[in-house]
Amino acid sequence: MTNSFTLPGSEDDVILEVSDVRKYYGGIHALDGLSLSVKRGEVHCVLGPNGAGKSTFFKTLIGTERPTSGRIIYNGSDITRFPAFQRVRAGLSVKFQNLRLFGELTVGQNLFTALRRNRRYDEIPEHTRALLTRIHLRGSEDRLMRHLSHGEQQRVAIAMSLASNPQIVLLDEPTAGLSVDETRLVEDIIHDVNQRGVTVVVIEHDMDFIRSLNGRVSVLHYGKLFAQGSFDEIADNDDVRRIYLGAA
Ligand code: ATP
Repeated sequence: MTNSFTLPGSEDDVILEVSDVRKYYGGIHALDGLSLSVKRGEVHCVLGPNGAGKSTFFKTLIGTERPTSGRIIYNGSDITRFPAFQRVRAGLSVKFQNLRLFGELTVGQNLFTALRRNRRYDEIPEHTRALLTRIHLRGSEDRLMRHLSHGEQQRVAIAMSLASNPQIVLLDEPTAGLSVDETRLVEDIIHDVNQRGVTVVVIEHDMDFIRSLNGRVSVLHYGKLFAQGSFDEIADNDDVRRIYLGAA
């Protein structure tokens, strides 16, 4: 009997494939023929200079922006024209750069807005507690969101993206503005999420953080894939250093 099983992260087990995707805003080519694939089960970091198209890449993946042309294949299906809610239902999820939290609601109420879409009402308190434990904010249900530190808010935003029980989660700059200790907590959360079988794609600028995630790295430049490899390969790449590390 042939074993058709593919190991997580193996070459032929691609969860997401982006082919020649373009996103034009008038004369601005935010994405200009981007082709990139994400393997099931991996942690994949996306970096690149400001304006390289990283956030636009995530927006076209989740469906808040429609590509001008190109194809997005997820789990073997063409989702290029799917609306965002259908992509979330299919297992894609995102934490945007802008956290999109409700400052006047409690942490529990914020999580409720995310959990109510896919959990039974009577299960929500239990899922809330479990998510808060995973983001190191146990017992914070009743705190007002605007009273949380920026680092705590980043973690709640990550929890919101996990509420739909995704197969793949896209995190846009999850450590922006965080201290070293808070960054380490986010690192722990990402490792935990990934160990539970979730594929993680992270946009980041912090090279120490990218190194610690120990995944594949894609570098975007002018809306295209510029380089791809392990952290060490990317860090040793003179062309990358020229466009990105040098600039940093
Ligand atoms: P950063 O690291 O600064 O967040 P980025 O790599 O995420 O940058 P994007 O935000 O994807 O880059 O933007 C790519 C390019 O597209 C930029 O030149 C940006 O100004 C432009 N752009 C993005 N969204 C729009 C929009 N809605 N209308 C017009 N131009 C846009």
